[in-house]
Amino acid sequence: MRVKTFFLFSFFFFFFPGGGPSDPLPTVPPPPLKPRLRPCIIGRLTRHNVTETLPSLVPQLTEVCVRDIVKEGTMKESIEGIERFDSPGKGRGLRVTKAFKVGELLFSCPAYSCVLSVKERGCYCEFCFNRKERLARCGKCKKAFYCNASCQKGDWAMHKLECSAMIAFGENWCPSETVRLVARILAKKPVYLYPSVSDVEDIDNKRREMNEGDIAGLHHFYSKHLDFPDHSDLLLLFSQVACNGFTVEDEELYHMGTALYPDVALINHSCLPSVIVTYNGTMAEVRAVQDMNPGDEVLISYIDLLYPTDDRNDRLRESYYFTCDCQECKTKSKDKVKLKVHKRSDPINPEVISNMVRYGRNAVREFRAANLDSHAPPSELLEICERSLDKMGAVFDDSNVYMLHMMYQAMGVCLYMEDLDGAISYGEKILKPYCQLYPAYSLNVSSMYLKLGRLYLALDRHSTGLSALKKALAIMEVAHGKDHQYLTALRKEIASQK
Ligand SMILES: [Zn+2]
Ligand SMILES: [Zn+2]
Ligand SMILES: [Zn+2]
Repeated sequence: MRVKTFFLFSFFFFFFPGGGPSDPLPTVPPPPLKPRLRPCIIGRLTRHNVTETLPSLVPQLTEVCVRDIVKEGTMKESIEGIERFDSPGKGRGLRVTKAFKVGELLFSCPAYSCVLSVKERGCYCEFCFNRKERLARCGKCKKAFYCNASCQKGDWAMHKLECSAMIAFGENWCPSETVRLVARILAKKPVYLYPSVSDVEDIDNKRREMNEGDIAGLHHFYSKHLDFPDHSDLLLLFSQVACNGFTVEDEELYHMGTALYPDVALINHSCLPSVIVTYNGTMAEVRAVQDMNPGDEVLISYIDLLYPTDDRNDRLRESYYFTCDCQECKTKSKDKVKLKVHKRSDPINPEVISNMVRYGRNAVREFRAANLDSHAPPSELLEICERSLDKMGAVFDDSNVYMLHMMYQAMGVCLYMEDLDGAISYGEKILKPYCQLYPAYSLNVSSMYLKLGRLYLALDRHSTGLSALKKALAIMEVAHGKDHQYLTALRKEIASQK
């Protein structure tokens, strides 16, 4: 049974201790096969999200920090057809100086720094983030995987921060992904370039606690290779990275890693975005999802657009310190459909509805906490989903976003438990409302078509599977561009079924 098509085989092993690669070493047994079935990530954001209340000094910093981190290097001074400008009420932004059609590439941006998620090791090349079936692995730590010797060599300056430390710490090697990214940023730049800010005390306690934990992790796991700046500068750097990091996701929206994209970080938010960001290897690509005219601001969504206006703005305030004033936030035109309740001959009491909305929001939070606690067994997670679906189902229509949220989580748990029929039954209920509630070209919709299509094919439901994959393809041609490696692979997948 194959849901995702990528399984791991590793036939070549090599290692070079700082110099050129030595000859491949034979016969190290390949790591266990790893089917790519994982629970979905909750409340997914386009940008790397920090749910905790955040430091008050960061809003000003977001304007300058990426520039400060990346004073030189990857940033192109000008991109044709795009210019920086002061967006009223939003600070710095980008706008187009010529027309762009739906699906057209505005620009692409190399990662200033990026890190592959530990969970994805073996599926993607650690250096270029390309997906391959036969990756070669570092002969020393046996934990980093590469396309070939040249990717390994390209990555060595970064991988050496972790290679011998992973061996030394063994099972106890566990820095957070943010710590890993910050270590890479520090390794690239002389420390004195970071701005020194005196009022770091403004950072609130919760966030400070998190940052202190990360700083301790940084000292613990990376001290051999790095000289660290002052404690206050490190606190600042972690806040900057939390606010400006991007979560790199694959075509099914699974988390692959975290990266800094200086040019993309200049784009402001709207709940009616004009562009979408996708990833090609470690490169971020920005494409129009609306026809754009000269002077139009380039706008992405920082958050999941499924939710009603109040939820979206809570999220934006929590993570990015602003309230959105886009047309959709002003008119709340989709809120009623998003919070759809059952039609009854005698209508449901508004108080019952608002209590249920409160319950729905809490259920989302409760599930997030249980999911983050890695000890919670999948059966328990599924139970939480089913319990809240039962309760909310008495009032909410199946297309209500709180119902959809829990169904999406339940689908993720079913996938994790390899219950394909269960996953399909949730996915089928989600799909139609997703198509209505998300914008026309949405990765949430294309990834749902992909997941469902691949599930149908795994259960030999060929024509249903093919038609779902083709729907995904149509959206991805706009979002990812026609020549993206995901589309090439998807077309092959479709052709192989005929
Ligand atoms: Zn590679
Ligand atoms: Zn290694
Ligand atoms: Zn908005």
